Amino acid sequence: MKITADFHVHSYYSKDSVITFPLLTEGCRRRGVDLVAIMDHDTYEGALEFKRLSEEKRSAGQWAPRIIPGEEIRTSKGEICGLFLKEHVPKGLPPEETMRLIRSQGGLVYVPHPFDLFKLKRLKAHELEEIAELVDIIEVFNGKPRFPGANMLARNFLREHSFKVAAGSDAHEPTRIGAVRVVLGGFETPEELMRSLSGARVEGRMYSPVWSAILRFYYRKKYSIANP
Ligand SMILES: [Zn+2]
Repeated sequence: MKITADFHVHSYYSKDSVITFPLLTEGCRRRGVDLVAIMDHDTYEGALEFKRLSEEKRSAGQWAPRIIPGEEIRTSKGEICGLFLKEHVPKGLPPEETMRLIRSQGGLVYVPHPFDLFKLKRLKAHELEEIAELVDIIEVFNGKPRFPGANMLARNFLREHSFKVAAGSDAHEPTRIGAVRVVLGGFETPEELMRSLSGARVEGRMYSPVWSAILRFYYRKKYSIANP
């Protein structure tokens, strides 16, 4: 059975996000997203909490998206994400060390927005090639890169390399959840995800970061959302 997944969503545990668990659930239901990877900036707590809340709801017979606990970690050379994490990965380490910490707990290394040229710190294409054996998945499509040509560059790079690819909205407010999504065969484990990605389809479109910032402001006011 095919499912729809968004591999890059920020919960309100990220200071720049307003996505609470009820807003996530409503957003996913509205947009037909079955599974979400929570990728908060340098914190793992929100991912754990959302996973627990999702499991509680589902075991009570209610609908909720499935959650993969992850983290978007700032390394000394830009951001690296971990999927299927069991514990927090600290920021500020060299990327190779961060990747090893992700792998050592059974997680998958996911490189977000690899060609977002407006980010000062990021892994360059040749560096990605040099550490290819530590990379599991590269984000071929991100919902709101700072550099508008980032997704095109990523697509071109990945056409010539054999990395597995996935994608995510990078949503920080509920209306953009699933704006970028992957349709793929259902999976439970990291190994099954890696297999499923071979036959996956990436779809969606970029959205305006400015409009997203306005919506963040609106939601924060409307629901009095304070970050933990
Ligand atoms: Zn992000």
